[in-house]
Amino acid sequence: MISQFDKYVMPTYGRFPIELERGAGSEVWEPNGRRLIDLGGGIAVNCLGHCHPEIAETISSQARKLNHVSNLYYFEEQGTLARRIVERLAPGRVFFCNSGAEANEGLIKLARRAGDAEGRFEVLTAEQSFHGRTLATMAATGQDKVRVGFGPEVPGFRRLPFNDLDAFENAISPATIAILIEGVQGEGGLTPATPEFLMGLRKLCDERDLLLMVDAVQCGHFRTGRYQSFQRILEGLEGEGFMPDAISSAKSLGGGFPMGAFWAREALAVKLGPGSHGTTYGGNAMACAIASKILDIIERDRLEGRIRELGERLESQLQRLVDTYPDYLIGVRGLGLLRGVALNTSSGVWERLNPDVAPSMQFVKAAHEAGVLTIPAGPTVARTLPAYTIDNSTLDEGVECLFSALNKISKS
Ligand SMILES: *Cc1c(COP(=O)(O)O)cnc(C)c1O
Repeated sequence: MISQFDKYVMPTYGRFPIELERGAGSEVWEPNGRRLIDLGGGIAVNCLGHCHPEIAETISSQARKLNHVSNLYYFEEQGTLARRIVERLAPGRVFFCNSGAEANEGLIKLARRAGDAEGRFEVLTAEQSFHGRTLATMAATGQDKVRVGFGPEVPGFRRLPFNDLDAFENAISPATIAILIEGVQGEGGLTPATPEFLMGLRKLCDERDLLLMVDAVQCGHFRTGRYQSFQRILEGLEGEGFMPDAISSAKSLGGGFPMGAFWAREALAVKLGPGSHGTTYGGNAMACAIASKILDIIERDRLEGRIRELGERLESQLQRLVDTYPDYLIGVRGLGLLRGVALNTSSGVWERLNPDVAPSMQFVKAAHEAGVLTIPAGPTVARTLPAYTIDNSTLDEGVECLFSALNKISKS
């Protein structure tokens, strides 16, 4: 497998030397029969694990009914999914696309369209954010490593410190039309927005006539134990009625089938009239049937509550890991099943092990050897993004692998 990739596939990814042939639930297998526990979840995508039998059945029956007809016609599957998303958020409409970057690109186009009459176009985003790899979403992304070497940069973005309300307020210019943030920064190291930041941004946007947009590609779709991360963050607080003006979605939305979407409030959504935006595949019958089935299963099996239970279990186990290896780890981060460990960079242990490899990479590689998939989130955090359907014993086994990985590292 690897030799074909080395020769024929563009070398855009730093791939790990793991060949995967088959998956079931939260386990995957290499061709040699070796089994790994999947706590990486395909980077927050495989919300129902690998090869869920009901999803396999939906794919098969939908393939025999209607797969793709384009967006020139009406079909049941897309309308139904849009209604279900709107009913979960607030009155508005949904546009379907094929990825997270495309969903965010749609938010940016929507913002520019809304500001066009007044000559406003600027979108304020956060440092350490990640919004995608298209030209505009790269410019929105607050990480230099994503942008360098692809200039000139798409204009109209400014990046400010996350959770710093004053910085955002002070940055507003006559050209500003929107603020775009993640509810929990994923790639940037699992940092949740604070309640004060969310509420403050909502107030600021209302006062200054700006659009508040949330990139929920990674943190949304139940990942934190509520449909949206801001609902989880603001639970029990005054801001429980908080709602952005637009929200993007992807990853867990399709559970492995490539799809994205964005929702916007009614008055905003109708600004994208016929001919203003589009995509050939977006929201085709197959994609929407799968996404609706995922919603059915999450609702029927009450996975929201289960995600919170699993999230707490994972948190306490990761905390035990941190307590056992304080020279290597400093804390647990994240919410629900978007959890991770922050690595200790001040003790010097990682640097001593390998000064050329980021600590998060060293951790993830050691975990692979011990039999579990996890994902780096920046250089100093490692993420676990398990499926919502993982059972306690598989989760525990995955964490046990992390213990043996660190045990081995600490003895090397
Ligand atoms: C993954 C991700 C994206 C990009 O999604 P793609 O499907 O890779 O285009 C955008 N925003 C966030 C927060 C993400 O985690």
